[in-house]
Amino acid sequence: MTNIYDYTHKMLTEYLLSIGEKKYRANQIFEWLYKKRVKNFEEMTNLSDNLINKLKEDFYFSKLELILKQESIDKTVKCLYKLEDGNLIEAVVMSHNYGYSICITSQVGCNMGCRFCASGLLKKQRNLTAGEMLSQVITTEENFGKRISHIVVMGIGEPFDNYENLMRFLDNANNHKGLEIGARHITVSTCGLANKIKEYADEKLQINLAISLHASNNEIRNEIMPINKKYPIEAIIEAIKYYMTKTNRRITIEYIMIKDLNDKVIHAKELAELLKGLNVYVNLIPYNEVLEAPYKRSSKENMSLFLKTLKENGINSTLRKEQGHDIDAACGQLRSQKMKGK
Ligand code: SAH
Repeated sequence: MTNIYDYTHKMLTEYLLSIGEKKYRANQIFEWLYKKRVKNFEEMTNLSDNLINKLKEDFYFSKLELILKQESIDKTVKCLYKLEDGNLIEAVVMSHNYGYSICITSQVGCNMGCRFCASGLLKKQRNLTAGEMLSQVITTEENFGKRISHIVVMGIGEPFDNYENLMRFLDNANNHKGLEIGARHITVSTCGLANKIKEYADEKLQINLAISLHASNNEIRNEIMPINKKYPIEAIIEAIKYYMTKTNRRITIEYIMIKDLNDKVIHAKELAELLKGLNVYVNLIPYNEVLEAPYKRSSKENMSLFLKTLKENGINSTLRKEQGHDIDAACGQLRSQKMKGK
């Protein structure tokens, strides 16, 4: 049995052809799943009984159970969901003047081991399937009664360490027969798996890419991101250049501001030098302190000075406005607190 949300439109079409059905049935089924949002095959009234029975034999509808919901004063809502195998994941909904965005989880746990991050403490148990990623969007829309217009794959997990499922998810999220969320309204964030950045470039998608750089040199990056030993900054820069030639699209560079580690003017200058001439935009993020890590957030003065230095050196950048600070909204915090029995 397969979760029906794991199948892309193309996979479903191939399946239907293989059982002697017509291609257009895939459109009908997708319409029921993603537009009318039915939760069982019996309700798909324009299909034959035969086909409904066959679908019931081969597929099921996966469910996410809402365990806990936390709302912050700025209307950021964090949802803790239970998967069918009992594993817990998080999704965060943020309210903006342009609509609602959701930050979704891509893996149960994470193996990247970034020292500042609460998610990495719990090693990867498994990848999420495409359907489990889609269900976070669908179930959350249904729980809230609101349409979500933007998706960021920035929750727990390293999306490029779950590449194939991620691609299926993106396909259904973006497909006009699926969730129909515009490619430019979707962002995938990676810790910098350079080989996968190149593979992703070859897909030539219009979906946004963000890279968690967080350091201006290998010495600092090695200290906070073990993955840097495998893919050092030079490998990431090379992958960025490759991405540019393939897609002509701008990349977002994420840079968390950690006190006394990476937040000095010399780091800003070093970063500007590194990124000079690349079509990138730097998003400075105030570090969200977590109990498990020794790092502290940079001061407001240091963050502003860093931003100013980048701009003076010709780098497009902004300082991210914070949301959900009062509700453990940093990656993986709700889940890790819950698992510790808080
Ligand atoms: N694995 C992917 C996506 C998940 S993390 C990645 O590394 O990009 C999403 C973003 O949150 C990353 O930039 C990550 O470095 C950052 N992050 C993790 N913990 C954080 C914290 N405590 N405060 C601020 N940002 C954090």
